[in-house]
Amino acid sequence: MPLTGIEIFKLLPKTNCKECGDPTCLAFAMKLAAGKAELSACPYVSEEAKAKLSEAAAPPILPVTIGVGDRALKVGGETVMFRHEKRFENPPGLAILISDTMAESEIDSRLERFNSLKYEWIGLILRGNLVAVRADSGDTARFAAVASKVKQNTDCGIILMSSNPDILAAGLAVCADRKPLLYAATEENSDRMADLAKSNSCPLAVKASGVEKLAELTTKLTSAGVKDIVIDSGSRTLRRAFEDQLIIRSAALTKKFRPLGFPTIVFPAEMTNDPMREAVIASIFVAKYGGIIVLSDFQGESLFPLLVERLNIYTDPQRPLATKEGIYEIGNPDESSPVLITSNFSLTYFIVSGEIETSRVPSWLLVKDTEGLSVVTAWAAGKFVADAIAPFVKKCGIADKVKHHKLVIPGHAAAESGGLEEELPGWEIQVGPREGSHIPAYLKTWKP
Ligand code: SF4
Repeated sequence: MPLTGIEIFKLLPKTNCKECGDPTCLAFAMKLAAGKAELSACPYVSEEAKAKLSEAAAPPILPVTIGVGDRALKVGGETVMFRHEKRFENPPGLAILISDTMAESEIDSRLERFNSLKYEWIGLILRGNLVAVRADSGDTARFAAVASKVKQNTDCGIILMSSNPDILAAGLAVCADRKPLLYAATEENSDRMADLAKSNSCPLAVKASGVEKLAELTTKLTSAGVKDIVIDSGSRTLRRAFEDQLIIRSAALTKKFRPLGFPTIVFPAEMTNDPMREAVIASIFVAKYGGIIVLSDFQGESLFPLLVERLNIYTDPQRPLATKEGIYEIGNPDESSPVLITSNFSLTYFIVSGEIETSRVPSWLLVKDTEGLSVVTAWAAGKFVADAIAPFVKKCGIADKVKHHKLVIPGHAAAESGGLEEELPGWEIQVGPREGSHIPAYLKTWKP
């Protein structure tokens, strides 16, 4: 059972040192009990207390990782019902479905779409995450062959789908090193599925008809030592599946009901035959509260909007999207190329870098950390002014990359030009356009 705030408080150092960001140990304990703080935020908890607090410190929806390496997918770990309370932590994985009864050409084209459908969006790469291999043939060798093909042609996480443990074991024999998600343990096969998951250190999906039976089954499996669990309530209509998502999230977060405190897996692919309706259903589960969303196929016109929706829902609403501070090379610039500077609001960076690319004038773009604020807002907040810009220009190393020492600042920050010339001796400050769309014309006439 989770500990109460007072029980947690008794285990904390009670020095009220504030290093965790809370004014008192009691305030921190209350947040910890509510799943709104991480135990690691307090550096002074004893090892003994840590062991006792581990249950309380675990997020109400436990995190589960599928796959290995850079493309491993972490789902769950959620602590809030609504993103304005804190933020949603781990975006749902989007999976493409491959049946082992499909023709080789169809499997190849699905894998090709899975690998090629990726999009650069405000400096991030958006793409699908998982390939689900479903055993429809009943043929152990065929399932293993398709799983092997998926492994060889992707570097992502894999879901192995069968209710027959022998078939899953055959799939595991060719891709256990990728730590696939095994789908699914049911009332009938849970003992053998638990053995497979434990002996291969793989996460296990659990399927039941309804959330009550699901809770019974996860209780049984956790008692048997299965730790990494993903849950499927078995509903295949939008209304029931959506209600189940709300019940599961609410039970785990507000009632601290551990048997349902796991990420979910949902199947829009099995709720309709209409691709557009399937995309709409998937979008609902991106918002609330799918952990893994299995699609019948990937098509650009439906995948891209889902990826952008997912990005928007899982960004921190209290922090604007920001680009890393630094020097960005656009079009192989050299020592005679123009040097421009802008703020690190991702949309600003995206627009400015895009306009520089459009100009076809190779350039250096300096991106100053303004805590994700746009140029005008950052300037008004004192984060994009001469005193802040000059130290960054000095330390970033751009002076060693160009021989002209001319810096183009955004037109909206023109008032800083005098201050910058004082702060940056040897640099000529040039005021660029106020609007990004005027950058190409400006750069075409720029002279070193
Ligand atoms: Fe208390 Fe630890 Fe927070 Fe300090 S950092 S106030 S000891 S909980």
